Amino acid sequence: MQLLEYQAKNLLREVELPVPEGLVLRAGEPIPEVTFPVVVKSQVPVGGRGKAGGVKLAQNKKELSSIVATILQLEIKGHKPECVLVEPALNIESELYLALRVNRDKRRVEYIVTRNGGVSVESHAEEVRVVPADEESYLQVAEILQLEAVAVKKMCQKFMTIFHDDDCLLLEINPLIVTKDGDIFCADAKIEIDDNARFRQENLGWTETSNLKPLGGNIGVVANGAGMAMSTMDTIYAAGGKPANFLDIGGGTGEDVFVKNLHKITDLPNVQSIIVNIFAGITRCDEIAKGLIAARERIVDLPPLYIRLEGTNRDKAVELLAEAGMEVLPSLQACVEGALKHV
Ligand code: GDP
Ligand code: MN
Repeated sequence: MQLLEYQAKNLLREVELPVPEGLVLRAGEPIPEVTFPVVVKSQVPVGGRGKAGGVKLAQNKKELSSIVATILQLEIKGHKPECVLVEPALNIESELYLALRVNRDKRRVEYIVTRNGGVSVESHAEEVRVVPADEESYLQVAEILQLEAVAVKKMCQKFMTIFHDDDCLLLEINPLIVTKDGDIFCADAKIEIDDNARFRQENLGWTETSNLKPLGGNIGVVANGAGMAMSTMDTIYAAGGKPANFLDIGGGTGEDVFVKNLHKITDLPNVQSIIVNIFAGITRCDEIAKGLIAARERIVDLPPLYIRLEGTNRDKAVELLAEAGMEVLPSLQACVEGALKHV
């Protein structure tokens, strides 16, 4: 998950990295009293906002109000912002680039550094330097950025703290601004959190992305793999039925995955039955069975399930489900025939 700039900056602020004191403004909120000039920044989870017109300077209240309105309406790379960030404008001397990222191929965390930061950093690719992250890397980073080693050492330690504590894959400051007064500010921040670490980063405000697409029919579908999901739907259509949804649950097997998704399907209008068609390769049928049993127990109005399970630990799953009074059918065809009885 990529954090929005203001969320990323909140993490920087927590470790006392220098960030401009901004405020977040949502549609409909009154324009606040601020000291001008300010910079107004679209809060969308993509880069290149500057070039797309999503970062603008405002010199007075009238300008601010018109820029805020414009940016809130401006779609950037398919994203419309929920809010803008308003910050005191910096008096820029130079724009540097500093990032920390996980390099999977080299199995290490490394700094990406260049003195030529800003919106055109990609066009200076040949000047970009890579420094493996360790206790001493601040020396090289300071040299490349032409900043004082003591200041860079503190900054690098703080970046490292965030990087580890928040399970980051990327922490990018572009630009890292040096002002005409010689102060340093993280003027933009892009932080990517490892999705696999969600269980210990729940406080970061994860956005729900749903793989479930409603289709208006009355037979709910749970399948794993897009191919399996599509062939399940083809089989339903071929038999004269109508699927209520498309859903590829992927490799997820946890109880919560089944309870959550079966809840969503049950909540769709007119669902009379649900076909569960799963091939367990890496996943295991008995885990899936536990998920289905939990769903049966927890979802009061769950419609009848028609279950086909193949693959690893199928026998164990059949046993578990039988104990709970649930049946595994021999084929998808049998599931579709069962589901059509409720239509
Ligand atoms: P991005 O284009 O999505 O990476 O958005 P940035 O936050 O990096 O902003 C793009 C550019 O706007 C920066 O490279 C700066 O040149 C400029 N910019 C950002 N903040 C300020 C500011 O406070 N003052 C001034 N003068 N320019 C800024
Ligand atoms: Mn930037």
